[in-house]
Amino acid sequence: MTRIVSRFPLPPMSLGTERHLTVHTYGDPDATPKAYLQGGLHAGELAGSLALHHLIRRLDAGEHEITGHVMIVPIANPIGQSQVMRGTMSGRFAESDGSNFNRGFPDISDELADAVRGRLGAGAGTNLALVREMIADILADLAGMAASEIDYLRITLMRLACDADLALDLHCEEEGLVHLYIDTAHWPAAEDLARLLDSRITLLTDPTPAMSFDEALSAPWRRLTETEARANVPPGCLSSTIELRGAADVGDALAEEDADRLYSVLQHYGVVAGGDEVELDSDTPVRAVPVEGMERIVAPTPGIISFRVPLGSEVTVGQPIADLVDPTADDPAEGRIELIASCDGLLYARRAQRFAHTGATVAKVASNRPISGLTTHLTD
Ligand SMILES: [Zn+2]
Repeated sequence: MTRIVSRFPLPPMSLGTERHLTVHTYGDPDATPKAYLQGGLHAGELAGSLALHHLIRRLDAGEHEITGHVMIVPIANPIGQSQVMRGTMSGRFAESDGSNFNRGFPDISDELADAVRGRLGAGAGTNLALVREMIADILADLAGMAASEIDYLRITLMRLACDADLALDLHCEEEGLVHLYIDTAHWPAAEDLARLLDSRITLLTDPTPAMSFDEALSAPWRRLTETEARANVPPGCLSSTIELRGAADVGDALAEEDADRLYSVLQHYGVVAGGDEVELDSDTPVRAVPVEGMERIVAPTPGIISFRVPLGSEVTVGQPIADLVDPTADDPAEGRIELIASCDGLLYARRAQRFAHTGATVAKVASNRPISGLTTHLTD
């Protein structure tokens, strides 16, 4: 299968250095549907990057015709990957400005709403094409004004993905089950995506100011459904943050499984031929909750973590899920507190380091009921 490899240079921030994004594409660039896949935006989260390596190998084998357009960015954050702090990659936050690499993507909702005002009609296809054209124009203007390498990186990733029907951003937890974040506007239409990726829980989100990558791609479309309510505007980009287990769950065997699942996704959504060969039990219930139903179990004091329950446990309210131990206590009997679940639900992520400073998240439980009062966007 013909694959084109392109390199997009990032503007250097110091003399004698240059980084670039490597992009692999298949199929006619004008063909639809388009799927965009990236890994390693949090640079140390490598499961997605290795899965994409195997997906490239599988697509190269040419089993099926490419009926749409596929774009793969296996290493989406060469800046973060180059941040080595005393021998360890520090790929989640930018050392230059402290920002989380998966926050602060440009929210172009206002500009887009202005650009298309009065120009949309009853034809969904025509609207889709016009909106995508406007989005591309807005992002091209923003790229010209980028003030730093990181800003330019964020805008470039959006420019590569913004005309995709399906945009998948591959991450991982410290320790975790496979789970997805998807904009509520795409639910339950995106249930099949969750099924095909064997997601154990799907967290449904609404746009917030945090602007993770998947949010920045879906938020402008959400806005149009409000500002252009009379026009026929489909939610043009199904974007999802996919957490592929934990940071240490990286290896060829798992990555090949993930690549096979991603390949099935491409088939199911018509990007690669053979969608009718994909086994999909549409009757299987898919577990999903609003992201407000994600409960963080937080350490109220510092201590050594001793978990009582493994990942994937169905916990009940009041159940101890871990002990926090303080070996410096005068009385060992008092140097231990229980951390309990405050809701019934699925324990789907745990802290990897077995020490918690005060306020650290020790585990995450997807509640069977939404928790009120949580408004922060919690995409990893
Ligand atoms: Zn991440």
